[in-house]
Amino acid sequence: ELRQAKEAAERASRVKTEFLANVSHELRTPLNAIIGYDEILLDEAQELGITACVDHLQQINRAAHELLALVSDILDLTHLEAGRIETAAEPVPLDELVAGVVDTARPLAVANGNRLSLGRHDPLGIAITDPARLRQCLMNLLSNAAKFTQEGQIELESERVGQEPDRWLELRVRDTGIGIHREHFPILFDPFTQVDGSSTRRYGGTGLGLAITSRLCRHLGGELTVASEPGQGSTFTIRLPYHPR
Ligand code: ADP
Repeated sequence: ELRQAKEAAERASRVKTEFLANVSHELRTPLNAIIGYDEILLDEAQELGITACVDHLQQINRAAHELLALVSDILDLTHLEAGRIETAAEPVPLDELVAGVVDTARPLAVANGNRLSLGRHDPLGIAITDPARLRQCLMNLLSNAAKFTQEGQIELESERVGQEPDRWLELRVRDTGIGIHREHFPILFDPFTQVDGSSTRRYGGTGLGLAITSRLCRHLGGELTVASEPGQGSTFTIRLPYHPR
């Protein structure tokens, strides 16, 4: 009976994963069409100076991009869970990547009155990894830090750990925000999970960012860890091999 129950649960999980992957894929095509036509109308409205329409069309554009990001997250998660995600392994100039991500994330941090800076920064040189996925992981962590911190400090630190052939890269996102209680650590990286429902209503979000980031880090040969104190702030650390085997 136990075996049958286990097999039924595994089957259900597979069906759910396939369903989510198919639905996400089918949603992207019409969403891209909505965004494309919205942008054509936006150009026309701007040329004709129809300000009221410009505002509405910009709102459609923002909402459609949010939905597209959510669909991409669901697709990423289903691919990660099914072990079907493909990552690149190419030489990546890390210092440039880190500086670029900080520039991209700065407006998010500033919107909540935060300062975003590079903290301790070892010269990182070149690692073999997937630049787009690493950028995605760092952006997830930095946008969380920006969201859960008000009038505070956010830092991205980078450190080289160990020696060749066992050399590792640590990227830490530190914030002085609301923090997370230790009892919530075990569920933090579960998909669609938020620490508490009321904070979600206040801050928004889907509970997918950390689930994807932790799985991507594992896929790239490393891991994501957290240290945090309520009211003091949080530090999320990405640890990756320089040259994964
Ligand atoms: P989302 O941010 O979309 O809710 P995540 O998976 O990125 O989803 O985060 C899950 C939950 O973990 C958040 O809802 C929040 O409760 C908590 N969390 C994540 N990052 C931080 C942070 N830097 N400070 C405080 N809480 C955080």
